[in-house]
Amino acid sequence: MYPPPADAEQRRAVAPVICYPTRTLPRPDLDLYRTARKTAQKISEVLVAPRDAATFTVTAGQFFRISSVEGPQVGDLNLWNAADLSGRFYSGKTRALHGTHLTTGERMWSAFPHLRPMATIVEDTLDWYGIDAFGGSVHDVIGTRCDPYTGNLLAGTQYHHCCHSNLTRALADHLGCSVAEAEPHVHDVLNVFMCTGFTRDTGQYFMKASPVRPGDHLEFFAEIDLLGALSACPGGDCSAEHSSDTAACHPLLVEVFAPSDGALAGWAQPQVSGYDRSHGR
Ligand SMILES: [Zn+2]
Repeated sequence: MYPPPADAEQRRAVAPVICYPTRTLPRPDLDLYRTARKTAQKISEVLVAPRDAATFTVTAGQFFRISSVEGPQVGDLNLWNAADLSGRFYSGKTRALHGTHLTTGERMWSAFPHLRPMATIVEDTLDWYGIDAFGGSVHDVIGTRCDPYTGNLLAGTQYHHCCHSNLTRALADHLGCSVAEAEPHVHDVLNVFMCTGFTRDTGQYFMKASPVRPGDHLEFFAEIDLLGALSACPGGDCSAEHSSDTAACHPLLVEVFAPSDGALAGWAQPQVSGYDRSHGR
């Protein structure tokens, strides 16, 4: 290790600057969404089996709710533009804009060149949790998704029910294609109900038992037509381990609600990014 320079403490004491101040970020009209939500009727639901995934579709202007049922369980969520799978959720940019964990009023943003809000969180029954003494919080966009490749790298295993594989199978079934064709569309997730952070001493990604209990839910407003896939993680509440069949696992419920006609008067789907894409050429 290099010896610290004479002004090391001075350099460390420089105050941080927020990379992306959100003052100019377009704000969702949560009052309008909530008013519309009061008129909404349930139109569909899917129960995601433990250690498996399921897809669902939501039309722009509808709501979808992910609920804990039966027992504490973490979910890994992928979202795509239903009409164009390249318009998929961009976990990294969402993290840069909103921080490491999402809650009410924050949005899931799509990948370049689209970069528009795909879904807005309108209700979060775990918003009371905040940031705990370990630096942990709920609904992260810092994890990737548990996957068989990392398990194989670290332990030499061949495990087939990680979220990555669950999402791949569910998408393949929805598209009517092979897992090899579906796999490249699977992307980094919103870790619904998962409690995570980084250790202060080593900066390592940590997880701890999710505070979620049956009845808790996270609800979204669909800003565009969406295809979603949700995996009920083999980690269960992620208190101990994932990438195995060891943890107690429970299903997750996804419900879709449609507001009445006219309830969203004045609302329009967000446009794709206004950048001209010439990249200086
Ligand atoms: Zn997982």
